[in-house]
Amino acid sequence: MTNILHRHSHVVPRVAARGEGPYVYDVDGAKYLDASGGAAVSCLGHSHPDIIRAIKDQVDVLSYAHTSFFANRPAEDLADLLIEKAPDSLGKVYFVSGGSEAVEAALKMARQYFVEIGEPQRRRVIARWQSYHGNTLGALATGGNLGRREMFLPILGDFASHISPCFEYRYRTTVESSEDYGLRVADELKAEIERLGPDTVAAFIAEPVVGATAGVVPSVPGYFKRIREICDEYGVLLILDEVMCGMGRTGTLFAFEQDGVVPDLVTCAKGLGAGYQPIGAVLLDQRFADAFYHGSGFFHHGHTYMAHATACAAALAVQRVIDRDDLLSNVRLQGDALVDALTARLGNHHHVGDIRGRGLFRGVELVADRATKQPFDPALKLHARVKREAMDRGLMCYPAGGTVDGTSGDHILLAPPFIIDRTHVDEIAEKLGDSIDAAIASAGS
Ligand code: PLP
Repeated sequence: MTNILHRHSHVVPRVAARGEGPYVYDVDGAKYLDASGGAAVSCLGHSHPDIIRAIKDQVDVLSYAHTSFFANRPAEDLADLLIEKAPDSLGKVYFVSGGSEAVEAALKMARQYFVEIGEPQRRRVIARWQSYHGNTLGALATGGNLGRREMFLPILGDFASHISPCFEYRYRTTVESSEDYGLRVADELKAEIERLGPDTVAAFIAEPVVGATAGVVPSVPGYFKRIREICDEYGVLLILDEVMCGMGRTGTLFAFEQDGVVPDLVTCAKGLGAGYQPIGAVLLDQRFADAFYHGSGFFHHGHTYMAHATACAAALAVQRVIDRDDLLSNVRLQGDALVDALTARLGNHHHVGDIRGRGLFRGVELVADRATKQPFDPALKLHARVKREAMDRGLMCYPAGGTVDGTSGDHILLAPPFIIDRTHVDEIAEKLGDSIDAAIASAGS
């Protein structure tokens, strides 16, 4: 019996009792290796003593003070840390409580910027299919996850349109090089801007590494450079959504560093606070802050819990620990080890089509037929079977369906904590391999 409306009406989840390092324990004492950080959140694992201490210390002096009355020290310090590490043009931070809020704020910043500089006709946002930007209405309208959008289409508004993803495994033709493929799909942005009318387009939004919808899909070399060029040519803003792939997950603090571009706005959340407190942020180009300053004088937005002192204290501690312990080196090291271990266990598997990703952000795509890349029948819900089998083996991973086009395809997303070592990597590969085998057997394939 539960009084909570859980995510699924027919499933009441096991109750988590405590966490320690990369493991979570349920109330019955069962132990689970958190190989997905929940949903790419818990980048320091669980119960990290430094973060617990920072939260307790902050609560002892000031839990919260509304931002219309006061600034607070942890928020200022966290902003300083992020701005110091960001490219020079990103000069301000706006703190919110999660990923969807960060995306909503970024979309509204883009819109307000154009109003302030005298281009109010710019209201359109272009996004990509097979992407996810959050479940609030603005974020959902830009997201390209068909399954999540369908129910709410009539209330999503008409400001967003979509171009193809950059998804090499699925959509590069055999006669194209990776680079040629990237340029072809990037040029869809140019065509879409022209179709809509260049002076009506405010922004293009994309995940540098697509997370849960397509199963950890980085772009091909050159893709984002071409996207940046097109945005610059038309005065369109580039918003990169790093809610899932950012804050070190791919081995660099910002995922976009590996694509050689700098966005006008970047969103982050999940790994920022590592799950110790709910927090998200937008880093914005200084010219937005200047436009608001010289224009209406403020950003027309706000939330009750923005720049929450305790959330910022936790995130500050998280980012300092990542720095102090040089954990991004471990992300790169264990990320390579994870690919090796997955390849050893699954590389020749009849039903594993692709193993991909960057750093400790990896995806495994399942197929019915490796040669044709034919996905499994969606009715089998193979991804859900993998999740059940993995939980029964003490492994948390993040499988999802609709990988190919929103309807068909299955993948498993892995995003383990940055603190793992080689023994955890081997445990992930072994348990995931066994779970995939058992799931496929239970589906009768
Ligand atoms: N953007 C991306 C890329 C995400 O992966 C997510 C969540 O998974 C969001 C936005 C929404 O974040 P939240 O669930 O914190 O609202």
